Order: sequence, then C-alpha cells, then structure tokens
Amino acid sequence: MEERTIFHKIRDKEIPAAIVYEDDDVLAFKDIRPKAPTHLLFIPKHFVASIADVTPETAHLPGMLILKAQKFAAEKGIRGYKLTYHVGKEGGQEVMYLHLHLMSGQGLEE
Ligand code: AMP
Repeated sequence: MEERTIFHKIRDKEIPAAIVYEDDDVLAFKDIRPKAPTHLLFIPKHFVASIADVTPETAHLPGMLILKAQKFAAEKGIRGYKLTYHVGKEGGQEVMYLHLHLMSGQGLEE
C-alpha cells in the first residue's frame, strides 16, 4: 500500500489547509511556511510521489499542474512568479507527493 503523506490527508480533507483552488484534477493551497508573499502548492488528485517517479502514463501531470498554476496566476493578476519542482530528498523534496511550488513577490489578493 502507498505511504500516505500529509498531502494525501490535505487532498482527502482529513486535515485542513488554506485551499485557494480546486477542481476534479488538482488542489492548490498555501504553503504553511511561505518563502515569498505568495507561496502556493499545486498537487494532482492522482498520486505520484515525485517527478522521479513519473512514467509515460503519468507524464501529463507535471504539465497539467503548470497549466493550472499559469491560469490561476493570470486570473489573480500575478504577473511574475517562479515555478519549482523539488525532486527527491537530495533535491530538497520533503513531502513525497508530487507538488509544484508557485512563488511570487506579489501578494495574493483575496
Ligand atoms: P518540498 O520541500 O518541495 O517537499 O516542499 C514541501 C512544502 O510543503 C514545504 O514548503 C512546506 O512548508 C510545505 N508544507 C508542509 N506541510 C504543510 C501543510 N500541512 N500545509 C501546507 N504546506 C505544508
């Protein structure tokens, strides 16, 4: 059985998170320890542990997260931002559930 991470529990609404966007495929929420005025995490509803574990069957997921982040930023008027995937423990990945960081110097207007 797959190991359930904190992001599984956020996805399944077992623990709270500051959710900013959700649809059938993706959930986005505020990073609990923000490193920029806007620091969001985008996760697919379908579990993949890491970019290192992406296969031809799941290769669409990283691009889908980028598209969702791009659309979210455009809708919120966030003009410039960084998108980051940490890959593996040695790459700085702490939570083994695929997630895309969106960081911007611009604040998120509610
Ligand atoms: P990474 O280093 O790429 O695995 O990033 C994991 C991120 O998840 C870190 O920036 C953490 O601050 C963030 N994080 C950990 N637990 C939570 C949580 N319960 N809610 C929101 N963000 C979290």
